[in-house]
Amino acid sequence: MVKGIIRHVDDLGRVVIPKEIRRALRIKEGDALNILVEGNGIRMRRAEKSCISCGTESKEHLREHDGMYMCGECLKNFMPGEKDDERR
Ligand SMILES: [Zn+2]
Repeated sequence: MVKGIIRHVDDLGRVVIPKEIRRALRIKEGDALNILVEGNGIRMRRAEKSCISCGTESKEHLREHDGMYMCGECLKNFMPGEKDDERR
C-alpha cells in the first residue's frame, strides 16, 4: 500500500492521483470516482459500487442511475415525495 504522497492542487482545483495508487487500485482514465467529505478529509472510491451519498457498498440495496449508484435509504431521503405526496 502506498502512503503519504504529497500533491498540490492546481489553479482549477485538480489533484493528480499518483500513478502508483492508480496502478494499485486499477483506476484507469475515464473511471468514475466517488468523492466524499469525511471529517476534515476527503475519501475517494470507485463510483461503480457505492452509494454516491453515504458511500455504502451493500450491493443489494444500490440502484443505478446514469452510471451512479445510490442506496435505498439515501434515495428515500433524496426523493421524499416518491410514495404518496404527489397530490399536494
Ligand atoms: Zn446511501
